Amino acid sequence: MLDQMKARPTIRGNYIDGAWVPAARSFDDLNPSDNSLYAHMPDGSVEDVRRAIAAAKKAFPAWAAQPFHHRAAALHRIAEVWEKRKDDFVAAAVAEGGGWLGKGMFEAGYVGEVFRSAAALCYQNTGEVLPSEHGKLMMAQRVPMGVVSVISPWNMPGILTSRGFAAALAAGNTVVLKPSEDTPYAGGLYFAEILDEAGVPPGVFNVVTCSRESVSEVGDEMIENPDVKAVSFTGSTAVGRHIAAKCGAHLKKACVELGGKDSMIVLEDADLDAAARAANFGSFMHQGQVCMSTEKLLIHEGVWDDFMGRFLDRARKLKTGPTDDKDNVIGPLVNTRQAIRVKALIDDAVGKGARVELGGHAWDNFVEPTVLTHVDRSMDIWHDETFGPVVVALPFRTDDEAIALNNDTEYGLTGAVWSRDEQRALGIAQRLETGIAHVNCQNINDEPHVPFGGVKASGIGRYGGRWSLDAFTELRWITLDRGGRHFPPVF
Ligand code: NAD
Repeated sequence: MLDQMKARPTIRGNYIDGAWVPAARSFDDLNPSDNSLYAHMPDGSVEDVRRAIAAAKKAFPAWAAQPFHHRAAALHRIAEVWEKRKDDFVAAAVAEGGGWLGKGMFEAGYVGEVFRSAAALCYQNTGEVLPSEHGKLMMAQRVPMGVVSVISPWNMPGILTSRGFAAALAAGNTVVLKPSEDTPYAGGLYFAEILDEAGVPPGVFNVVTCSRESVSEVGDEMIENPDVKAVSFTGSTAVGRHIAAKCGAHLKKACVELGGKDSMIVLEDADLDAAARAANFGSFMHQGQVCMSTEKLLIHEGVWDDFMGRFLDRARKLKTGPTDDKDNVIGPLVNTRQAIRVKALIDDAVGKGARVELGGHAWDNFVEPTVLTHVDRSMDIWHDETFGPVVVALPFRTDDEAIALNNDTEYGLTGAVWSRDEQRALGIAQRLETGIAHVNCQNINDEPHVPFGGVKASGIGRYGGRWSLDAFTELRWITLDRGGRHFPPVF
């Protein structure tokens, strides 16, 4: 496995209409553990995206017309090839994405399930029969839309890319994918290799990678091109707002899953050991670069010392360093820009009076697990998504105060509440302004068949299960008259 992790992929070009198409330019894709070159990636142009969209448009009628169980079989084949090549994905996620080995293995295991649950969607009903005043046969029928543009992030390149397009394919759409410039292989061309080997027909799935410099014009084309019917986006709130606004102007459907500033609430009757262990995972898994990461710990003042002691003892044991050593559970941040941003958030907080309880050190692209207390609303870290291995901890006195602290953010992705009194915890969970809430667990949870998504600035639309079909189908009203419709006699 270690040798495999040093291997570099062979990049043959973008994947358009079932063929590898070299791009005129390339960009450097770096390994964030040491900023060494991982691969030269195609720097796709607007022209490349247009070709991909044209190929997807051409492939759409035949793919949509396939019997549903043939599409399901294709999705199962994708899952099988994915599972066969799992180790290659882990190696790419570790080297290109700067993820810990365990995180890569978790993702690799999950993605197969994304495709299998998408295959199951093919067997769902595609509509409803409605009563008619005129005795007509009336149907509300779900139909595929056409070409779907998928834009994915780097932090979970396997899960978030596959989640972005699997249900769209199941519903009969065709896809053009643009992965993040930070994981163009693990979140992009690697999927092209898998779907190609699985025998997905040419044009049904296309991948165009591009650099950060090109993404604005390439991204605009993926939305504005008249042959694109819907957009599937996972990423930051800033870019998501831009994309949703453009989709609105062009009257196109958008499913946008965005950032978070998630809290975990620990009540005085919680199992503190379990809560401390969960908080350690929720705060620091993948260096805190998960949209659902626990960014605020809200601790009842009566158990503050006890909880913080247990939590800090655990967090102190996490080792930080290059991810080719599997003992380094905390790898680098994905790029130097992110590392500088996270350090600036720590410095701003400390400059305004926050106390560093643990960590606080940063070098190259690495930031140690960091715990801050004495944080207040004047600090950027209270409002901004940190997306790094930094958590702030605050005491509270009453349930109402904990709920108000949780809701004091523009975001609304997930919430978490710990208590041995399930009734009380559930009551609090129901008052959190989030799309998702968990009792007696931390914030990072997902399963392929659940309605995953946020409220407020965390996004619109839901991925997962039958809810993802809302994002990737049109709902049509179709009627069949049987002579029961009467018209005024003057006609
Ligand atoms: P990002 O918004 O910078 O990039 C996401 C994608 O958008 C990338 O593919 C990028 O190339 C593309 N992009 C950037 N500018 C664009 C433009 N002008 N037009 C079109 N596409 C453009 O986000 P990121 O840094 O890759 O990911 C981290 C963010 O994603 C965090 O805010 C995180 O919370 C969020 N996220 C949300 C979820 C969720 O499900 N809610 C899941 C994972 C990550």
